[in-house]
Amino acid sequence: MRNKIVAGNWKMNKTRTEAEALAQGIVDGLAGKNIPDSVKVLMCPPAPYLWQVQQIANGHPAVFVGGQNCHQASSGAYTGEIAAPMLTALGITYVLVGHSERRAYFGEGHDILKAKVDAVIAEGLQAVFCCGEELAIREAGEQEGVVKTQLTESLFHLSAEQFTQVVIAYEPVWAIGTGKTASPEQAEAMHAFIRQLVKEKYGAEIADQTTILYGGSVKPANAAALFTQPNVDGGLIGGASLKVETFVPVIEEMCRQMA
Ligand code: PEP
Repeated sequence: MRNKIVAGNWKMNKTRTEAEALAQGIVDGLAGKNIPDSVKVLMCPPAPYLWQVQQIANGHPAVFVGGQNCHQASSGAYTGEIAAPMLTALGITYVLVGHSERRAYFGEGHDILKAKVDAVIAEGLQAVFCCGEELAIREAGEQEGVVKTQLTESLFHLSAEQFTQVVIAYEPVWAIGTGKTASPEQAEAMHAFIRQLVKEKYGAEIADQTTILYGGSVKPANAAALFTQPNVDGGLIGGASLKVETFVPVIEEMCRQMA
């Protein structure tokens, strides 16, 4: 059975004290709960807090920590950047690659993202590769073509073995931080399309094992409807991941469905 993941992207939020309290609150909130083996929880804090949050995550076997970004080079004169081996050295196991904010504000296009994916895979980390269309593309009905290009250009050069280190996060840009969620039917249609693309490229077995997350205003009120879709394997969550009382119920919903 493929993994189900509830991931929190804290973006550039929280003081150190707040970050520690949030991580501890999530770990404490899950303590003693029945978390099925296939369910993983991921916290992606700002880089300066990775070490501390990793120490706190060590307190629960289902909780993992991810970086929000890394550079494509393994070291060098890239002031301000973080290399994948530096994340590994902290015990980090996942990295977000290609979040729409990185694409929009930091000019990360297909080629850079391809190189970042390679850096993450070479380091033995899991890449959470984000894809998704902007509103105008959705309104023009061209969302499948855009997502196909994003996957083809930055992911589908990987070997089948390398691809097992990839988690895909479908995040329609118009639903991120806007309060607008894709309907469960819209999410399922795109997830099924993505799984079909993976099947055509890597075969049925790998497609069946690939975790495909939905991201875009996931919260306790809509988690059940999204997570019951057969091709939706969890969520990448921004706003609702910033509070224990909105993040833990989303995890609990996934656990309920997998119990
Ligand atoms: C995100 O940043 O990846 C995200 C999905 O944010 P939000 O849940 O706030 O829409």
